[in-house]
Amino acid sequence: MTSRPVRVRFAPSPTGYLHVGGARTALYNQLFARHNEGQFILRVEDTDEERSTEEALRLQLKDLEWLGLQWDEGPHPETLEPMGDFGPYRQSQRKAIYRAQAEKLLQTGQAYYCFLTDEEIEAQKAQAKAQGRPHQVQSPWRDKPLSESLKLIEEGQKATVRFKVPETKVDYKLKDLVRGEISFPSDMVGDFVLIRSSGMPVYNFCCVVDDALMEITHVLRAEEHLSNTLRQIMIYQALGFEPPEFAHLSIILGEDRQKMSKRHGATSCNEFREQGYLPEALTNFIALLGWSSPEGKEILSHRQMVEQFSLDRVHSAPAVFDQAKLKWMNATYLRKLPEVELWKRLEPFFAEANLSFSADPEWRAKALGVFKTSMETLRDAIELFRPLSTSGFEISVEAKDVLAWDTSRSVVEEWKSLVGALPGSFMSEEDFVQIQEEVKTRAQVKGKHLFMPIRVAVIGQPSGAELKVLVPLLEKQTLLDRAEKALELC
Ligand code: GLU
Repeated sequence: MTSRPVRVRFAPSPTGYLHVGGARTALYNQLFARHNEGQFILRVEDTDEERSTEEALRLQLKDLEWLGLQWDEGPHPETLEPMGDFGPYRQSQRKAIYRAQAEKLLQTGQAYYCFLTDEEIEAQKAQAKAQGRPHQVQSPWRDKPLSESLKLIEEGQKATVRFKVPETKVDYKLKDLVRGEISFPSDMVGDFVLIRSSGMPVYNFCCVVDDALMEITHVLRAEEHLSNTLRQIMIYQALGFEPPEFAHLSIILGEDRQKMSKRHGATSCNEFREQGYLPEALTNFIALLGWSSPEGKEILSHRQMVEQFSLDRVHSAPAVFDQAKLKWMNATYLRKLPEVELWKRLEPFFAEANLSFSADPEWRAKALGVFKTSMETLRDAIELFRPLSTSGFEISVEAKDVLAWDTSRSVVEEWKSLVGALPGSFMSEEDFVQIQEEVKTRAQVKGKHLFMPIRVAVIGQPSGAELKVLVPLLEKQTLLDRAEKALELC
């Protein structure tokens, strides 16, 4: 381990939503930083000008904040202005920095201007294919003196800046903190582009320059970047920078053991948020996709994760995304939330479904007490609470059939008059049972001819949760108004 103060980064490309894989990378970096009292940096890799958007950047920042993954340095979450001493933190604002570093490599002969056209490169590829060998670019410009190349550029010729891969084959050794020792033979890659002819630097180059200048000590990132690491180590060496330690995190698979994708359902954090997952549950679940607590615990607070997180407990085997486990974890967190807090989290879901409820905290606590154990996600509350909404009461088509029965009018009339005669603004479960018995006697009906019209008069539907649970949660006046509406259809 390096003795430099720990500095890690999450480096998303703002080309879409934050996916669970990205969220895991961000979380592990943040946990590693906090555990080691280091800094967690957010760097935005937006050099792909066609695919990167500010909207995607803002959405990703919002998702990171929602997950509780605040960064110490990086773009400000609102203004996007750099926060920290190593900015700017958006690669699109660092072009001059990359240019200056490329210049160093050109001056020392470790990179060169290459004037090969796309057609020439395509022809080289076709030839390699015909000869059955892998293609590596062979540039006639590799050993041209810099002064000659500069003249061509002055004349207006377009050139890329290519890295000069050493001619003698060497094995680059990497001690990956998750995957152990990995050896890359240098001839795995040919001279690769650092700066495109458009002037836009490529990912591998920006990444090294930034990691070095931002004094990143550990790079924790997805396994798919392992193939970039050889090129990156070469660039570190050429620039004379100390490379960071690397930890490549295994891929995340769906339950069918295929790479997790849309086919498996939600994959982005905002989808999970919209489905009603709690950020603390999702974070806890994601933490266990490739890491395990030394105590073998499944439910861990963020503080416990920080305390216990270490890379030697990060597994190199692929992680499997178990939807049922995520639901279980969410339900566990949800049931532990204090009622006031849980209600606050439910409000956006109720608003979306146009449901409104009493503002009385006691009523809310009572209703939550009844339904909490039936909820796995916040979204589940919509259907559970719908019958209790003070707005939008409607009588369904099937319910109208029930009201059309010969005996239904007298059932609902008796129900309404008995409810109206009760003192107080709410009735108890016992009151309800008694009233139902009384309606039975008065209207001379039993079984479904008794229960269903009452149900329709209470919730507007012939089926649903138990009435003895719902009725005590409905204000007497609401019950009377609903009964009146039902009578209009009898
Ligand atoms: N921008 C890269 C990505 O979104 C991250 C590369 C890295 O972490 O080195 O996958």
